[in-house]
Amino acid sequence: MDEILNQNVTEMAGVSFDCSCGRQHSVNIDRIVIGNDIIAEIGVIASIFKHGTVFVMADNNTYRLYAEELEKYLCSRGISIKTCILNGEGRLVPDEKALGTIMLDLEDDTSYIIAVGSGTINDLARFISHKLHIPYMVAATAPSMDGYASTVSPLIAGGFKKTFEAVYPYTIAAEMRIIQSAPMEMIQAGFGDIMGKFTALADWQLAREIKGEYYCKTCETLVRRALNKCVESACGVMKRGEGSVYNILEALLLSGIAMGLVGNSRPASGAEHHLAHYWEMDALSKGTHHPLHGNAVGVAAVVVSKLYGMMQERLPVGIDMPKAEKITELLGNTGACCSPAELGIKRELFERSLLEAMKIRPRYTIFHLAAEAGQLESCAHRLTLEFYRE
Ligand SMILES: [Zn+2]
Ligand SMILES: [Zn+2]
Repeated sequence: MDEILNQNVTEMAGVSFDCSCGRQHSVNIDRIVIGNDIIAEIGVIASIFKHGTVFVMADNNTYRLYAEELEKYLCSRGISIKTCILNGEGRLVPDEKALGTIMLDLEDDTSYIIAVGSGTINDLARFISHKLHIPYMVAATAPSMDGYASTVSPLIAGGFKKTFEAVYPYTIAAEMRIIQSAPMEMIQAGFGDIMGKFTALADWQLAREIKGEYYCKTCETLVRRALNKCVESACGVMKRGEGSVYNILEALLLSGIAMGLVGNSRPASGAEHHLAHYWEMDALSKGTHHPLHGNAVGVAAVVVSKLYGMMQERLPVGIDMPKAEKITELLGNTGACCSPAELGIKRELFERSLLEAMKIRPRYTIFHLAAEAGQLESCAHRLTLEFYRE
């Protein structure tokens, strides 16, 4: 029982176990490969699909970074390759146009997809893989978000962000040399996404205590242990210490795995993600720039922790209180933004988001507790004054 707690993240692929929560959990990923010089291992996995074309997806950046090298290596092993480079001016958008470009490039005999990139490329590949029943590998290029081991794809359809059902990757591969040299903003984003687990786990405990919601202690432990490792190595993030960057990547993968075990995003996403989504949707609707997901989640975790502090007297027992000062300090250690104003969130949007973020998903969070106590408006006002003093 709960054997998964004794395993290293790379050993979790394909694991199935009876959990102390009463359910049977499984990780439907075939392989997880993390390390230095893993290209030969990627080659061995791709060779399994040699009977057809291996479709490599990248954007301008990730092509130069890793896909080109991968393409050459796989060709040298006699694997037939088709490469699709999604060109974008600025940030690549996972919308109908990008999906259409991929469909036009895809060979009829495609047997395997290798997505080289992080968030967007991975979201697109996961969706295509699901629709066409072609297994895929994600070759991660940055420790920037927790969607590597995920079964849903957030895409932009008709100008709106929607979450579509998709599949787990067949393989997750991460070449540490590439991960470590990712842009600092992306490493900070990954760290921020992990800081969001403090509030996500608190919200899950809150829902268990107040709503009797299903809870899995094993999944909580998996996520919290990984979170604690990131906390301990936060000081090495700016120096790109191998251990610090590895811990972020591992925590991001484990969050994804925990979501897969539970069957929804509860172990990794709560009020902080709802706030971050609200800000992102606002930017999308106006066509303005929005921060990286993880940077927004990190700041939102600070905000939500302060709300926890304000609601402390109303909280049931059994909640691990998230601490705003601690999260702020940790984000500061990595050089990331710590306040909504630094992220570029306007005061009016900030106050409105606190009142409305809970409508994004019918998931019980600290926002609901505050609203039920009739204190959401006053707390939103106090938080706005605190974060926008000038
Ligand atoms: Zn369980
Ligand atoms: Zn996230």
